[in-house]
Amino acid sequence: MAVRLSSLPIIEHWNCHNCAACCRETVIRLDAEDVARLQSQQWEQQPEFQGVRVVRRSVLLGRAPVLAHKADGSCVFLTAAGLCRIHEVFGADAKPLACRQFPLQVVRWERKTFATVLRSCPSAAAERGRPVSEHLGFLKRLVKDEGGRVAAPAVAGRVRRGWNDFEYVASALERCLTDERLPLVRRVAKCVRFCNLIEQCRWKHLAPESVAGVIQAAEELSDHELGELFRDRVVPGKRTSRLFRRLGAHFVRCFPGGKPTRTLRDHWYAMRASGRLAKAHTLPADLHPRFAAVASEQLERALGPLGDDVLKPLERCFVAHAVSRRYALSHSNSSLLDSTRRLTFMHPMAMWLLRWLAVDREPTAEDMIEIVVALERGMATAGLDRAVHWLAESRELERLAAWYAR
Ligand code: SF4
Repeated sequence: MAVRLSSLPIIEHWNCHNCAACCRETVIRLDAEDVARLQSQQWEQQPEFQGVRVVRRSVLLGRAPVLAHKADGSCVFLTAAGLCRIHEVFGADAKPLACRQFPLQVVRWERKTFATVLRSCPSAAAERGRPVSEHLGFLKRLVKDEGGRVAAPAVAGRVRRGWNDFEYVASALERCLTDERLPLVRRVAKCVRFCNLIEQCRWKHLAPESVAGVIQAAEELSDHELGELFRDRVVPGKRTSRLFRRLGAHFVRCFPGGKPTRTLRDHWYAMRASGRLAKAHTLPADLHPRFAAVASEQLERALGPLGDDVLKPLERCFVAHAVSRRYALSHSNSSLLDSTRRLTFMHPMAMWLLRWLAVDREPTAEDMIEIVVALERGMATAGLDRAVHWLAESRELERLAAWYAR
């Protein structure tokens, strides 16, 4: 049965511009139908695929089948001309589902299903192309109705309260993140405070009729004395700095054009590089070709006012997440509050990456588009929730947001 799909109340744009970034820097997970289709295509009989594995098992994804890669990290089916070999030989419908759908995404709410775009595609991050509503017909043909009710993620901790309470909290977060009267960083800091307040509720014992009042009170309180955070900005302490830079190394590696981290060995080298970066006074240049070696204190200097065009790709990313709820519904193992904190962490990280990327020049909108791509690619990583939870609880997350927004 075809799925009932709507576009979001905001207008997102995307068209494929054939940059092939998704064929170079993405792990494509395969379902049983994809694997069977690839087997029926008998690639082993094509001269260029003799002795070449086209599907491998990913240890990092619990031995799930994924498309194999060449030594340079690109997809095994990517041709020298930057085209997909499956598409060339068998047509678009013969490709794995994830390749056909990317970067279009479906977000399932209790009774609604929305189409949005993953901004890990550079064209989606830059919003180049037609409105997503014009891709709905294509997406409807691709996505099956999975039937059954989807469970709402827990609001806080492991306490699942159902869709009503999820929506109360998510709507308050949406109001905050889309409030154009405030600069984005203030909205982010307010959200962090709102999450800390909401977490103090004893959700297990909260009566359903009290939820709206609790949320209204938290919304009002989260604004209280927010100005002081920006007036008396605090330099990140040693422990916070180290953790922040360790996480920063992960996002630098997610930048377009970086070394692939697909195997356990890649991850081992990446972990060692993160450890070095966390402690170094000079940030090394070996993480990514786009990031030059730089003294760590250079990234603590104020950036000065940024043009609206520079901040726009980041703001649009936040708004799309907030309106679609994708930040929470794509990571249903995390609670709503943890997902929100993960999203808010993207702000200080974006501003730190911007300092490094544009270390000797003025930052541009193109820099921010690449940063959004890297953030989208990196935000699902395991371990991020725990680190960000600590930063939020210790009030360091809001301080980081204020510090790097200078
Ligand atoms: S990354 Fe986006 S623009 Fe580039 S080929 Fe993939 S879908 Fe097209």
